[in-house]
Amino acid sequence: SVLTGLVFGILGGALCAYFLTVRLRSGKEILTGIKRGQFYVVYQPVVDAKTLTMSGVEVLMRWNHPIAGPIPPDAFIAFAEAQQLIVPLTRHLFDLIARDARRLQQVLPPGARLGVNLAPSHLHSPTFKEDIQAFAASMPPHHFQLIFEITERDMVKENEASCLFHWMHEQGFEIAVDDFGTGHSALIYLERFKLDYLKIDRGFVNSIGLETVTSPVLDAVLTLARKLSMTTVAEGVETREQAKWLIDQGVNYLQGYFFAWPLTLEQLKEWESQPKS
Ligand code: C2E
Ligand code: CA
Ligand code: CA
Ligand code: CA
Repeated sequence: SVLTGLVFGILGGALCAYFLTVRLRSGKEILTGIKRGQFYVVYQPVVDAKTLTMSGVEVLMRWNHPIAGPIPPDAFIAFAEAQQLIVPLTRHLFDLIARDARRLQQVLPPGARLGVNLAPSHLHSPTFKEDIQAFAASMPPHHFQLIFEITERDMVKENEASCLFHWMHEQGFEIAVDDFGTGHSALIYLERFKLDYLKIDRGFVNSIGLETVTSPVLDAVLTLARKLSMTTVAEGVETREQAKWLIDQGVNYLQGYFFAWPLTLEQLKEWESQPKS
């Protein structure tokens, strides 16, 4: 009858909603995703401001979910952190990079920089040192300069961070401060830790060429970086005008859609072999 139909309809709907919620809330999704090969990596070229040639790449993770489709990393990294699954996920990321290493070696020259994002909770996990040592050991020796990208909020556990950064430098890794200018002010820590790169958030880069010709904040950031002997990388460079302005201001490296999108290994090969104008 209509009534039983209605009752079953409502029940069914509720059941569906229930399972969908469970599905999205369960960390098992990530473990399943790892097992079934739903994650992959893309590489976004980073360009030397002096020569306009590729100095290296930043590795960015992707999740192609069979039902939800592509899930942006901002969402699944936060989800993995909340589910305490960032360590297995990052180990998987390391495996994916290592799997590409030989072919990457053919595309990227010796000394090329390989930027890898680290999630805050991984940095302070007990297996962190082992994990990145194992990753480094799985890569061809001496070919890549590994750079670990961390955000400002990772620097606030001061003593722990200080030891950790020191250890990372001893191991030959470099450290980049990601999204600089968006986090809680960490200027004190910036002075205390001798970190290598300052990545200027694309929010600042975006504002170039809108109403004003100059940005006092960007100006200050560049002066700060220079005084701290940090190398600067501008993120999210989308126009020629932005690139030109940043180069004139003395930014060391540039990254953004104007130069290249995040690319699969195959696309990276192609991009690398194309003449640049
Ligand atoms: P991020 O580390 O700041 O990475 C740069 C983001 O800016 C990437 O977004 C990249 O695709 C995007 N982008 C690059 N050039 C441009 C441009 O010209 N314009 C604009 N509008 N965007 C540009 P994506 O790949 O969606 O990653 C977002 C964030 O997710 C990353 O921000 C990073 O915090 C995190 N993430 C990505 N992959 C990983 C990973 O493997 N591990 C960890 N822990 N975090 C990751
Ligand atoms: Ca980054
Ligand atoms: Ca960034
Ligand atoms: Ca970010």
